[in-house]
Amino acid sequence: MTPTFELHTDVLVLGSGPSGFAAAYSAAKNGAKVILVEQNGDVGGISTSGLMSHWTGSCDSPLFNEMLKRSSLKNEGEFRNEITNIIDPEKLKTLYLEMLDEVGCKLMLYTFAMDTICEGDKVLGASVINKSGRTDIYAKIVIDATGDGDVAARAGAEFVLGRESDSKMQPATLMFKVGGVDYSRAVFLGSFESTYETPKGELQALAKEHIPSPAGHILTYKTTLPGIVTCNMTNAIEIDGTCADDLTKAMLTCRRQMDDIVRYLREFVPGYENCFVVSAASLIGIRETRHFKGKYTLNEQDILEAKVFDDYVVKDAYFNFDVHNITGAGLDKTGAQKNFSQDKGYTIPYRCLIPEVKENLLLCGRNISGTHIAHSNFRAMPICLGIGEAAGTAAALAVSQGCSLVDIKAEQIREIVGI
Ligand SMILES: Cc1cc2nc3c(=O)[nH]c(=O)nc-3n(C[C@H](O)[C@H](O)[C@H](O)COP(=O)(O)OP(=O)(O)OC[C@H]3O[C@@H](n4cnc5c(N)ncnc54)[C@H](O)[C@@H]3O)c2cc1C
Repeated sequence: MTPTFELHTDVLVLGSGPSGFAAAYSAAKNGAKVILVEQNGDVGGISTSGLMSHWTGSCDSPLFNEMLKRSSLKNEGEFRNEITNIIDPEKLKTLYLEMLDEVGCKLMLYTFAMDTICEGDKVLGASVINKSGRTDIYAKIVIDATGDGDVAARAGAEFVLGRESDSKMQPATLMFKVGGVDYSRAVFLGSFESTYETPKGELQALAKEHIPSPAGHILTYKTTLPGIVTCNMTNAIEIDGTCADDLTKAMLTCRRQMDDIVRYLREFVPGYENCFVVSAASLIGIRETRHFKGKYTLNEQDILEAKVFDDYVVKDAYFNFDVHNITGAGLDKTGAQKNFSQDKGYTIPYRCLIPEVKENLLLCGRNISGTHIAHSNFRAMPICLGIGEAAGTAAALAVSQGCSLVDIKAEQIREIVGI
């Protein structure tokens, strides 16, 4: 029989991506007793285990600024001491751990959140499983930062899967790095709408022609390490990231594409003639799954109007509509990168973090309440981190004031966060 244990805490955070890290850190920094649960062996989710290239977009988050500063100090080579949005995942993993340790957060790695403990509409905690057995963790506030909203879904919170019209979701990608690139000649194409002419043809067009579908675009990013480039180029469509069989299928599909992509890079892209794969992510990159119904659902118009909500808890969030093609390579026809028309940042109301009916539960990161298109913008990591900072602060306030999450005022959260 599986042994069962019991733990009690103020705040329980499930999932340790940029948003879960920020939530756990902020809750602990503001005096709450915090447990952070993560299924992987490292903290950081897509930002580290997902082998991410860089923080894209921006957000007025003091914690994000601190992360950028501290991670830049850890960088080596050309980018040492320079504040950069380029990520060195190995250094970032260590920084996350150090920062969580500084605020006394209890971390449970290799631990999967398998169920939610509820009493009616009240969320009381979550059941997690790991090598030691099962643990029922009871908490005053539970923060779901699993990206997919596993805990909120098990609690019965209402959600829409993917695109509203047909539940289709953005493609999955296994990020990987190549080495042996000649940086003095290398081409870096950072968006689908960036093109580059070579004697053999234009690189996006050549990618479409020579890399088998559903892959077929080029996205290459500088790293902080000599000769190493991060590739965001594998592509698995028709994947539901909440389905275990689909996750396995996505991994196989993306791994099978890597050889063809390297062949293309060597043959067509200047500077990559001798490149080779050095590593691939341990966590498949899932862009989109569940969008929960919160007390407010952020929509694309709010972003286009750079709306300032009375109860905002995230400020100056900025990115484009990064919708990857749902049916193949490149940008979806509903997406806008270079052609994104707004240049002002928007705000995210506290209500987007509060599920419509469940109590003691906060949504966090890419699973907050937003439409498919709005999500394509706020899914950028700096914005998710800003959301986490607000969620952790709100949770600590609810614990210290002994009140319900809905009674916490956004002004209080903003004052503590410093935005
Ligand atoms: C391929 C790809 C490329 C991207 N490129 C960029 C980019 O260049 N720049 C950028 O800023 N953003 C980028 N994004 C978007 C960004 O990475 C994500 O939207 C962001 O990381 C979401 O943060 P999060 O904290 O909500 O979730 P995640 O980073 O997804 O983290 C969720 C965490 O929860 C854990 N977890 C999940 N389920 C459970 C469970 N049941 N129990 C325990 N743990 C669990 C996961 O292991 C993970 O650590 C990209 C995303 C993808 C997929």
